Amino acid sequence: MPNRRNLYLYHKRDVETLEKVAPLYELASQYGFNVVKDFNTANIIVSIGGDGTFLQAVRKTGFKEDSLYAGISTTGSLSLYCDFNIDDTAKMIEAMTNEQIEVRRYPTIDVTLDDESTFSCLNEFSIRSAIIKTFVLDVFIDQNYFETFRGDGMIVATPTGSTAYTKSVNGSIVDPMLPCFQVSELASLNNNRYRTLGSSFILSGDRQLTLKVAQAGNDYPTMGMDNEALSIQHVEKIDIKLSGKVIKTVKLKDNSFWEKVKRTFL
Ligand code: NAP
Ligand code: MN
Repeated sequence: MPNRRNLYLYHKRDVETLEKVAPLYELASQYGFNVVKDFNTANIIVSIGGDGTFLQAVRKTGFKEDSLYAGISTTGSLSLYCDFNIDDTAKMIEAMTNEQIEVRRYPTIDVTLDDESTFSCLNEFSIRSAIIKTFVLDVFIDQNYFETFRGDGMIVATPTGSTAYTKSVNGSIVDPMLPCFQVSELASLNNNRYRTLGSSFILSGDRQLTLKVAQAGNDYPTMGMDNEALSIQHVEKIDIKLSGKVIKTVKLKDNSFWEKVKRTFL
């Protein structure tokens, strides 16, 4: 990574973590990296923890398009966003000294609430009823009415998010080389009065999904962007589309998406 020398390390600040990461700061300086305190000046952002930490690193640094992101695992195993084990410095050195870095781009989605605020997500946007009663959403694709959902909620996932929450509700695993997003149901009610598609569906990156809260009294749902709850609670309309922004990561010898899927699940 010859032209990318400003490195920002994202990790927890407790004593135990600081002890664990100290050698990485040394290693980075040893290999000529400039470890920066302000992520705005970084062109490489490394998270140290698990997939959850990687999601936080991306969110807290603002989905930076001019940076390469990498994940170092402290959990003892590699995962979807973590390609390096904290103890495997040889592999990190190999990546740091490689002149021909190949870059992988992960699609993200943009979620706009009531035409006012827009947020990006790397895994998914999720919306769930916060009360015991079922939750009713009118679903539109490109402004055309599609279905009325009644149940617990919905998940709208990116391709890399397809191995997370979406997988737990039997969604498909989607190759991140496909610019698209997947919509999955959480416990839909299906009977002679209420009918939904019942299966997950994948929308082209050119489409827009709109969810309208159709039930007064349930318009304070719980909404999540990746692993963060939205502080905004009241919402009537949600527009979701593929974002123009991508998250760049490093392509290594052993980390094609399907290799990651294999090492995580098989
Ligand atoms: P968490 O409760 O620790 O996450 C649950 C698990 O998902 C963890 O093992 C996490 O890995 C893993 N994970 C995160 N992103 C993944 C991805 N893209 N592919 C495969 N596994 C992934 O919370 P968290 O670590 O902050 O992660 C937040 C994510 O958890 C959310 O974005 C959502 O996708 C997922 N989630 C899943 C369920 C469910 O399956 N029922 C419910 C709520 C949230 P690490 O242990 O390495 O962090
Ligand atoms: Mn986690």
